[in-house]
Amino acid sequence: MALTGIQIFKLLPKTNCKECGVPTCLAFAMNLASGKAELDACPYVSEEARAQLAEASAPPIRPLTVGYGDTQLKMGGETVLFRHEKTFFSPPGIAALVTDDTAPVKIEEKCRRYMAYQYERVGLNLRPELIALKCLSGDGKKFAQAAKLILDKSDMGLVLMCEDPALMKAALDAVADANPLIYAATKANAAEMGKLALDTDCPLAVKADGIGALEALTGTLTGMGLKDLVLDSGARTVKQSFEDSVALRRAALLAQNRALGFPTIAFPCEMTDNLAMQTTIAAGLIAKYAGLVVLSDFEGSVVFPLLLERLNIFTDPQRPMTVTQGIYEINGPDPQSPLLVTSNFSLTYFIVGGEIEASRIPTWLAVMDTEGLSVLTAWAAGKFVGDAVGMFIKKSGVSEKIKHQNLVIPGYAAAILGDLEEELPGWNVTIGPREAAHIPKFLKEYRIG
Ligand code: SF4
Repeated sequence: MALTGIQIFKLLPKTNCKECGVPTCLAFAMNLASGKAELDACPYVSEEARAQLAEASAPPIRPLTVGYGDTQLKMGGETVLFRHEKTFFSPPGIAALVTDDTAPVKIEEKCRRYMAYQYERVGLNLRPELIALKCLSGDGKKFAQAAKLILDKSDMGLVLMCEDPALMKAALDAVADANPLIYAATKANAAEMGKLALDTDCPLAVKADGIGALEALTGTLTGMGLKDLVLDSGARTVKQSFEDSVALRRAALLAQNRALGFPTIAFPCEMTDNLAMQTTIAAGLIAKYAGLVVLSDFEGSVVFPLLLERLNIFTDPQRPMTVTQGIYEINGPDPQSPLLVTSNFSLTYFIVGGEIEASRIPTWLAVMDTEGLSVLTAWAAGKFVGDAVGMFIKKSGVSEKIKHQNLVIPGYAAAILGDLEEELPGWNVTIGPREAAHIPKFLKEYRIG
């Protein structure tokens, strides 16, 4: 269990020196207990106390990684039940199931297909990260070969699914370097699976029949020295899986139950054969706390909506997504190309930029820092007003790129026209369309000067 504020206070120097930024050691202890302070902020904690306090300052759900390279999945680290309280940190992984009795040529085909599900959105590359390889062959050599083949033919991480420690060892001997998730330790094999995880330093999934049994099993495994665990409550119905997912999050965050303070894995693929239904279940579990969902297959209609949902849920609600302020070239503009200005809310930028690109008309797009607010909101907040936009254009360096003084402002910012013309004497300012979809038509008809 995590330490309380008073327990933490007893371990602090109690000098009230204020160097941690709060007036007393007690206030610091309370902040530490509620996750609002970092232990490193106090330079006077003894090593002995530090070891004890590390537990109190650790995230209630242990952070860990699965896989390797660019697709490495970060799990855990969550500190809140609801996104609006702060933010969620680790977008859940999305995995497709492959069995080791599949012909190698088909495994290769799946690897190719799964890697192709990548989508550019607001400047990010969205894609699934993992393949869950299930051992159905009962043959350690085949299991290991299939695991190796997936690593050779894809850049995706692995979940190795097998409850026989001997078969798991065979696969781990081949691919442990890729940091696969070992699935799973159960009551029957906990000692052997735990040893494999310790020997290879790979994360270990723990499967039990219900949350109570899960808690007992994680206790056994952490007693062996294991730290990076992933929980599977064993639920294979939608209702029970959803309930367990919520209960585990609440146990970790509200009851501060360290035995359940680990990320989770869920298996929509074992709840129904219908892929569309699996997608719907996965969508619910992504919204409610799953750390990793495993589907029976990937299709574009499955992967894209889940990736988009995940992106939206795991965007920090307190920090709008932004693009860097600057002058962007679209379609290879020259000094006589039109100049448009917009805000740096990333969705605005990518929609406006996308429409300009679709018009095929070479254009300069000036993106002004509005702290991530859209044009209309930024205008209402006084961040996209005439003098500010004018000042930005003057200092942006665009005058060195273009040989005219014509600027197009968003239709929603028409009210800034007068102030902007005052700020930019000699410039010809035109009010552009309100809707980005009308930009191509506008650009085709727009004449500089
Ligand atoms: Fe107390 Fe440490 Fe903060 Fe000083 S820096 S007030 S000793 S907690």
